[in-house]
Amino acid sequence: MEPAKANSAADAVEVAHRSRKQNSRPTKSTTTQTAPTPKETVPNDPEAMFKVGFLADVYAEKPSDKVVTRFPPEPNGFLHLGHSKAIAINFGFAKYRGGVCYLRYDDTNPAKEEEKYFTAVADMIRWLGFEPFKVTHSSDYFDRLYELAEELIQKDGAYVCHCSKNEISLQRGGGKGGPRYACPHRNRPIKESLDEFRAMRDGKYAPREALLRLKQDLESGNPQMWDLTAYRVIQPRQSDGEEENADDENTAGIHYRTGVKWRIYPTYDFTHCLVDSFEGVTHSLCTAEFELSRVSYNWLCDTLGVYQPMQREYGRLNVAGTVLSKRKIMDLISRGHVHDWDDPRLYTLIALKRRGVPPGAILSFVNGLGVSKATTTIPAKRFEQSVRQYLERTVPRLMVILDPIVVTIENLPEDHLEMVEVPFSKDPEFGLHAVPFTRTVYIDRADFRETASKDFFRLAPGKSVGLLKVPYPITATSFETDPSTGLVTSIKATYEKPEEGTIFKKPKAYIHWIAECASLNSPIKASVRAYEPLFACDNPDSHPDGFLAAVNPHSEQAYSNAIVEVGLDEVIRRAPWPNSKGEQKTTTTTTTTTGNTSPSSSLPPPDSVRFQGTRVGYFCLDRDSAPGAVVLNRIVTLKDDARK
Ligand code: ATP
Ligand code: MG
Repeated sequence: MEPAKANSAADAVEVAHRSRKQNSRPTKSTTTQTAPTPKETVPNDPEAMFKVGFLADVYAEKPSDKVVTRFPPEPNGFLHLGHSKAIAINFGFAKYRGGVCYLRYDDTNPAKEEEKYFTAVADMIRWLGFEPFKVTHSSDYFDRLYELAEELIQKDGAYVCHCSKNEISLQRGGGKGGPRYACPHRNRPIKESLDEFRAMRDGKYAPREALLRLKQDLESGNPQMWDLTAYRVIQPRQSDGEEENADDENTAGIHYRTGVKWRIYPTYDFTHCLVDSFEGVTHSLCTAEFELSRVSYNWLCDTLGVYQPMQREYGRLNVAGTVLSKRKIMDLISRGHVHDWDDPRLYTLIALKRRGVPPGAILSFVNGLGVSKATTTIPAKRFEQSVRQYLERTVPRLMVILDPIVVTIENLPEDHLEMVEVPFSKDPEFGLHAVPFTRTVYIDRADFRETASKDFFRLAPGKSVGLLKVPYPITATSFETDPSTGLVTSIKATYEKPEEGTIFKKPKAYIHWIAECASLNSPIKASVRAYEPLFACDNPDSHPDGFLAAVNPHSEQAYSNAIVEVGLDEVIRRAPWPNSKGEQKTTTTTTTTTGNTSPSSSLPPPDSVRFQGTRVGYFCLDRDSAPGAVVLNRIVTLKDDARK
């Protein structure tokens, strides 16, 4: 595969060339490296998702002085881009309406929960700029839920059932819409169910020997009314071996928070609505697969006579061109296709964070999609385009060279040192910084050709090119190649400072460059990781040999000889620059400096050090950086290569 940077550099120079022409016209046109679609250039109202559509409708349906919502993840995996929609909806809607949002861990399945996931979820919410009103757990309410379960039995709203999985399925019509019928335990005396439920609690039954089931309505057309399970036994008896189905939830169970206190655990259907009720949730917003559950949600609150929140359902956000499922990501990790859960090629939130995607870009993306009942499936590329546009407007610029070639400007003195002022951005607010210009400069391999041609405006023997912000252009006079590789190793050039009184001819194109200047630590050496899509096709799940067969083996490219200009020090010092939602300048342990000794206590998180490499792409520091050893991730290329 051809390195993308060569393309982007080439394209960017052509854009610069075109834009100069445009700039000479009276009306000023702004240069952008990307070609935004008309819709995306319309200034985005950052609160649009709350003002129109689903969230405006749910508020109109139930206006409330104090909106209370909750984000209820199961702590059984890392959050992904799809979850950011649920976070933006629940936390964002509450904030917009002046209310509050709980972070509630839905920890009713001890077999699948792990402590590391609890911390990771909270970290990502804060990274996205939200602060939970309170952090709660479904398990905080286990006592109360248990009491309500007994109360429900006493109200003849639940019974203990000993049927097998298969029998229960048959009672519900066998999955094929067959006739439905009640189980033999349904009409057992209330007292008997109560005793049996207590026996379940006290360890008389192994998993699946007894269940507490709701006594709903088998006549209903809604499967969520077919006597759902309310409680199941999870703590196995000591002597029991492995259950028959290893994937089943009833196989293990010491709860991360409640330990061995409980042998029985409430199901989602029993827990969710009641905990929503306990917490005074006004708008219980969940994804569309729960639409049918609304009936059982209301049924349980009504039957127990507790406060009933309003459940409404919105469409999930799916991302095409990648996989989000935990099991598939685990497969990718175990087979070495990616390094870990935060591998920048994944779409978990920790991966996007490490890759350098700003939290504000994620929120802006979600907001731009709007919220409705319909599932939204977005190609990963479109997300990247949105990130690119966000970065284009927000981050400072630096000169970065992925594949440098040295140029000796022979008519400059050995000790020539001129400080050149370079703007950090097109936005003057960012200000200027100075970089050294000396006799030895580096340029990108892609900006040199061994033979000049009419359609090539950059450096070639006998051709002149401008070095960005350097007063006069340089002209190549000769070059050397490595006989074994055939690659150009060095170039000789002259500086075209005009004689007094002669007219200076502007070059056709300007390229980025970095000078050698040991006293100012220039250039800064860097190792750059450039990512391409992890999958070679748009729908890896539909690959006939499975999604793993669709993995692109060249999705990570390393540029180990890359260099960055000295402005990087200031970008590190000021990061996150500009301040992005939720990001703070915090002390981190493993961040880099450029070898200069800035106190490590003031270093920002590496992923918040973001910048545009002029004409090359967007980058951030990677957490693998160490003092004197800068590692950069390419967040996105400058342009969407697919558009070409
Ligand atoms: P998964 O099947 O990926 O584990 P889930 O629905 O079990 O998803 P949870 O971790 O329980 O995920 O999710 C917490 C919240 O985020 C839930 O309210 C869930 O509906 C919502 N959510 C999960 N995935 C998406 C998605 N792709 N788009 C929007 N919301 C989502
Ligand atoms: Mg889940």
